[in-house]
Amino acid sequence: MTDLEFLLSKIRDVQDFPQPGILFKDITPLLQDCEALRVACRLLAEPFRERGVSVVVGIESRGFIFGPPVALDLGVGFVPARKAGKLPWKTVEETYDLEYGTDQVQMHEDAIGSEDRVLIIDDLMATGGTAAAVTNLVRRMGGELVGLSILVELTFLEGRKLIDGVEIHSLLEV
Ligand code: AMP
Repeated sequence: MTDLEFLLSKIRDVQDFPQPGILFKDITPLLQDCEALRVACRLLAEPFRERGVSVVVGIESRGFIFGPPVALDLGVGFVPARKAGKLPWKTVEETYDLEYGTDQVQMHEDAIGSEDRVLIIDDLMATGGTAAAVTNLVRRMGGELVGLSILVELTFLEGRKLIDGVEIHSLLEV
């Protein structure tokens, strides 16, 4: 089995969660398996070694699971992009459409500066709305986007079309 076949075998499809018509990609079996977790984090970081990344941004919620190990691997710090109302300090925000509903994402206004080279991490790209909102926030704060690294891409939703000028690396296209 290849690494990617191994990772795919650890993702469980849950029909009609959190609402009818959604096929939810459950990554908890992958997280439960130390080797799968190690391989996933290594492969998320791999294309972005030697690329001068200065900070990893993880998108709530599951970008908080994969982001910090990738940041440690690359030898840089971690910044959370959170849902509205969670961050205590001054924030900048963007509103976006989800596969199910709408939401807002916020970052601390001093989290990224014009000297930063940013890698964004999330578990899954569906419509691309969340990732697009975070790329907009990073750019508004003056950061340079090195890339977006994600575990699973739902290619049929064509999320890439929402995200301009960013190198997108997805491990599993389903
Ligand atoms: P989107 O903005 O549509 O790309 O949605 C991306 C976010 O929603 C990701 O952070 C995922 O964690 C979550 N998400 C959306 N659709 C699914 C799905 N079918 N299975 C698992 N997570 C999903």
